[in-house]
Amino acid sequence: MKGTLTNYQPTWMTPELEALEEMTRQFCLREIIPHRERYEAQQHVDRELWLKAGAAGLLCASIPTEYGGGGGSVVHDAVILGTPAALGDRSFGNAVHSGIVAHYVAAYGSEELCRRILPQAAAGEMVGAIAMTEPGTGSDLQAITTRAARDGDDYVVNGSKTFITNGFLADFVVVAAKTSEEGGARGISLIVVETADLPGYTVGRNLDKLGQHGQDTVELFFDDVRVPVGNLLGEENTGFVQLMQQLPRERLVLGYFCARAIEHCVDVTVEYAASREVFGQRLADLQNTRFELAACAADAHMARVFADHCVEQFERGLLTNEVASMLKLRASELLCGVADRCLQLHGGYGYMTEYPIGRAWASARVDRIYGGANEIMKELIARGL
Ligand SMILES: Cc1cc2nc3c(=O)[nH]c(=O)nc-3n(C[C@H](O)[C@H](O)[C@H](O)COP(=O)(O)OP(=O)(O)OC[C@H]3O[C@@H](n4cnc5c(N)ncnc54)[C@H](O)[C@@H]3O)c2cc1C
Repeated sequence: MKGTLTNYQPTWMTPELEALEEMTRQFCLREIIPHRERYEAQQHVDRELWLKAGAAGLLCASIPTEYGGGGGSVVHDAVILGTPAALGDRSFGNAVHSGIVAHYVAAYGSEELCRRILPQAAAGEMVGAIAMTEPGTGSDLQAITTRAARDGDDYVVNGSKTFITNGFLADFVVVAAKTSEEGGARGISLIVVETADLPGYTVGRNLDKLGQHGQDTVELFFDDVRVPVGNLLGEENTGFVQLMQQLPRERLVLGYFCARAIEHCVDVTVEYAASREVFGQRLADLQNTRFELAACAADAHMARVFADHCVEQFERGLLTNEVASMLKLRASELLCGVADRCLQLHGGYGYMTEYPIGRAWASARVDRIYGGANEIMKELIARGL
């Protein structure tokens, strides 16, 4: 299939990155896309997929080599995490694992913690998740109630988290918890919980979602879970600062994924419109179809160019929280709009889950909610104006 952005190249693309992109594409076409239905039925990918991705060098590409990572930077992540999006995958949680969680450990974990966890994360032997959201609070992180109380050389964690991506398979979870009686942002810490055979740690059922059925999303329960103090990230009570520091990266990852997912919607619709006949002619030849697809392709280009600009800015240490939030806001809105217009062009078939556009439409809806709801993005952007 000729892609919507076939002739487009980001300014930061190099021959080495092009080869990485092609390798990633082949990996997705071999190991992810053909197994989609099984992943969706079981509500998670196979654990072996993580191991295969690790062996292929597709995990933790921007983590330093001394910790088993690829030693690359955000451009490597953009290629590795964006390519599956452009192919319509919504099952493999590598964006959270490599793009977000591993960086918390690398940035704030002790040397010992980094050496214990990150090489296994890069090999796909340990799957990572991040647990901030609780049943009682999501957007207002300062209101979390999960507690980590110091007891000798351990923290004792009590509470529950919900909507946790990769949570079903997770071997380590970066958990946001209160470590002080002090209210608000000051009493929050991030602690790495290693889940193997951990007394008091329970994984709830896989949650039934509107879309992204192959992606595991669960509740997690902590009942007097003991975690060594060495698993604390950075200083006690600095978790909120760490979360703020990581926001540009997190929003870039999510926004970039959305931008690339738009390409998928346009690609599959161009293909469908060329093959469907209506009123004795190709759907693709109707002026409405051509205009709709032209508008969607323009959105795909706009989103991609902005996303690649943000990658470049991040690479240069210049990406602000405001601009990263703009990317997450607009790319997710554009994706939902494009997915909806493309679904319309499919007629009733678009509403069938066996057609990729229906799944893309349902999966896209949450992009405006998670990783910070878009209203929070607007708050952040407005504050800087
Ligand atoms: C599929 C999926 C995967 C997820 N993965 C993870 C994960 O891996 N880890 C994790 O920690 N969380 C995860 N989440 C949780 C997600 O980040 C939260 O759902 C999100 O932050 C919103 O929180 P909430 O659902 O509690 O909504 P609430 O905070 O209750 O907000 C509800 C709505 O109120 C509005 N609103 C909220 N605050 C404001 C404001 N200040 N101004 C104006 N309007 C406002 C917004 O419209 C918002 O959508 C996931 C969620 C889903 C659905």
